[in-house]
Amino acid sequence: MARPATVTIDLEAIAHNYRLAKSLAPEQQALAVVKANAYGHGAVPVARKLESEADAFAVACIEEAAELRVAGIRKPILLLEGFFSADELNYISEHNLWTAVHNQQQIDAITSASIKKPLHIWLKLDTGMHRLGFSAAEYPAAWQQLKALPQVASITLMSHFSSADDPHSPVTAAQLQCLDDISRQCPSPVSIANSAGTLIHSSAHRQWQRPGIMLYGSSPFAEGQAIDQQLRPAMTLSTEIIAVHDLQPGDAVGYSGTFVCDKATRVGTIAMGYADGYPRQAKTGTPVIVNGQRTRIIGRVSMDMITVDLTGINAGIGDPVELWGKQLLANEVAPCCDTISYTLFTGITRRVHHRYT
Ligand code: PLP
Repeated sequence: MARPATVTIDLEAIAHNYRLAKSLAPEQQALAVVKANAYGHGAVPVARKLESEADAFAVACIEEAAELRVAGIRKPILLLEGFFSADELNYISEHNLWTAVHNQQQIDAITSASIKKPLHIWLKLDTGMHRLGFSAAEYPAAWQQLKALPQVASITLMSHFSSADDPHSPVTAAQLQCLDDISRQCPSPVSIANSAGTLIHSSAHRQWQRPGIMLYGSSPFAEGQAIDQQLRPAMTLSTEIIAVHDLQPGDAVGYSGTFVCDKATRVGTIAMGYADGYPRQAKTGTPVIVNGQRTRIIGRVSMDMITVDLTGINAGIGDPVELWGKQLLANEVAPCCDTISYTLFTGITRRVHHRYT
């Protein structure tokens, strides 16, 4: 019998979530963001599931795009971080990849490249994130320079929201204002909306949406929004109880004995730990579902095991445990570990059995 630590991916849920993104901006196109191994869900199986309906895919870098091409994925793939050296331009041109361009060195590399097919460029405008892209003052000259090159087939105007996950932030409107000013000077298809933009900022919908986290059924919003109800969680992290102990008041549990029983306590040990990707930062009290019943983690997360409170819970060795999934949203677990669902999903390691349904 195999160790029961398992991540189960519901590919139909991902297809449903992609269709939701499309339905919110029905006139527009949507890149399915499958970078970082589809946020830990498996880039190849996710892209295969979406290939017939996704308008295109987005990944961070050429290695991630190559994995999809080797697996037979044919739709265009955007490199969100662009390219890192001129050597990549031939592969980009020959494999129907689109690339972000965010600095002058990249424009210079394209200018002196000899490539067979001209490139589809997503020229990045910094509207306020201050991470990648040309400033509003620099952008028109960069756009003109690329537009004049025979190596360039098309330019899409791309920017990224910094605060769209906060519905009350005034930054989103300011970013859109900057985007629209530049769009008037540099007429091109436009893309700015991530999941948060796609889900609740209809004023941000442009020719291309770029949904990521919502495809995996997790809301980007700290404060829940009504639309979250329509997302279907795709990842379930589960395992089983492998030991049960009845402890007395004063007994301590786990490394450093950080949890001390204040009453008679039944403790279950489950086969899951930080080497599986479950965050070590999870505090005593982090929720967990045992045999369909809600309880909590107690004591420290170890490399391979976690201890949970079974007091008053009907459960024993071999019973199922859900760490997050459909019964317990990753967004509820994440704050107990001082993180967000994105890092929970991307953190799952190789040792965990991967199942696709
Ligand atoms: N576009 C870019 C440039 C990104 O970096 C990301 C994710 O980090 C996305 C789109 C998708 O964002 P989200 O997962 O919040 O939808």
